[in-house]
Amino acid sequence: MFMAVEHTALTVALAQLKLAAQKLELNQGIYKMLSQPKRSIMVSINVRLDNGAIDVYNGVRVQHWDARGPFKGGIRYYPKITLDEVAALSMLMTWKCAIADIPYGGAKGGVCVDSKKLSKRELERLTRRYVSLIVEYLGPHRDIPAPDMYTDAQTMAWVMDTYSQLKGYMVPECVTGKPVEVGGSEGRTEATGRGVIHCVQQAAQRIDLRLKDASVAVQGFGNVGYHAAQAAAELGCKVVAVSDSTGGIYNPNGLNPAQVLKHKAETGSVQAFKGSRDITNEELLETSCDILVPAALENQITCNNVDKIKARMVAEAANGPTTPEADKALYEKGVCLVPDILANCGGVTVSYFEWVQNLTREHWSIEKVNRKLGEKMTRAFNDVYALSQKEESDLRTGALMLGVGRVADAIKTLGLWP
Ligand code: NAD
Repeated sequence: MFMAVEHTALTVALAQLKLAAQKLELNQGIYKMLSQPKRSIMVSINVRLDNGAIDVYNGVRVQHWDARGPFKGGIRYYPKITLDEVAALSMLMTWKCAIADIPYGGAKGGVCVDSKKLSKRELERLTRRYVSLIVEYLGPHRDIPAPDMYTDAQTMAWVMDTYSQLKGYMVPECVTGKPVEVGGSEGRTEATGRGVIHCVQQAAQRIDLRLKDASVAVQGFGNVGYHAAQAAAELGCKVVAVSDSTGGIYNPNGLNPAQVLKHKAETGSVQAFKGSRDITNEELLETSCDILVPAALENQITCNNVDKIKARMVAEAANGPTTPEADKALYEKGVCLVPDILANCGGVTVSYFEWVQNLTREHWSIEKVNRKLGEKMTRAFNDVYALSQKEESDLRTGALMLGVGRVADAIKTLGLWP
């Protein structure tokens, strides 16, 4: 049995940085620099509700490190978000951009709000007010937001419009994940989920797992989870279980992700889908399957359920879904775990393609975007795999060493001003 340990996203991120720093024999000063964000901006967002009342929401933007390029990271709307959690996620973004080898640093934003309780007009006012409060720290060469949990392409359109209205001219390159009609990239919405499955393909080759008819369970049927399920099904995998915040469904013969999505849009839940059996989120994680894709929240695979995980491979689509003890236990069990900072870097990679297209006033075809995404994901996986083989470590340690090492090299080369 494993001892339950209290983790926060930040304690985990700091422990990971410490491990990478030790393995890389990193200079103590650089280690200290990387342990803290460069800047954290906290704001109070005053919003007039549809009924005329005013409510106040807490928002934050954390900019971790930018030695390799402007800050980049999503904006998350979630009722229980904390400054520490956003700081941890901003740090992961720094490593992720370095692993993907794109010229960005890491940032993250968050607003404490249950977006399901606000109308679309209220969400628009909240988004615009939040952007106006942090606008001086944003910009195409400063900090470029993107979608994350409970924000989407529409939210990013409001970010772009607010930033542009305040500047006095349209600046599509100030944000990514926008709708295509206002400068968004083809393939951005699907990119994170598709990128996860590119990694699954690479990892499957290393563990001799045949993907045709391989069974896949996906926790979280939102943007990332749905597109991962769809991309897996396109490869011939059988998606046997999916779930959302209301619970899950299971069908050993395979689910059609597009039909489940339609059902969810009509009923508000994946549950009660024809031909499937309702299961709980706990049961989903413990489903008999070849590949488990956690694509919802952090801390889902813990010392409480790791013994019951039956998958041969875990591809971390969500950020931080596995606790450190569970991570160790999975490695000892011989489960191939593709870590979040590698598995889900497809989203920020196509965000980078979108930014490049905006800066050059070009619009690439979906074929070009997907081809370049596949190349980037394959290279990132191979770089991480090679380093973890050399270090005789798990893929997470290899990924952390690659990401932290590249950022540290950039800091060393730049030197410290003044
Ligand atoms: P989303 O809001 O589109 O979807 C989240 C899904 O998780 C929803 O279906 C929701 O019902 C479900 N969910 C919430 N609580 C749950 C629970 N307790 N059990 C099961 N399902 C639950 O968000 P998303 O953009 O798909 O993000 C999912 C994860 O992927 C997050 O960890 C996010 O940080 C990470 N991520 C997203 C992107 C991106 O491009 N969107 C990029 C990198 C990482």
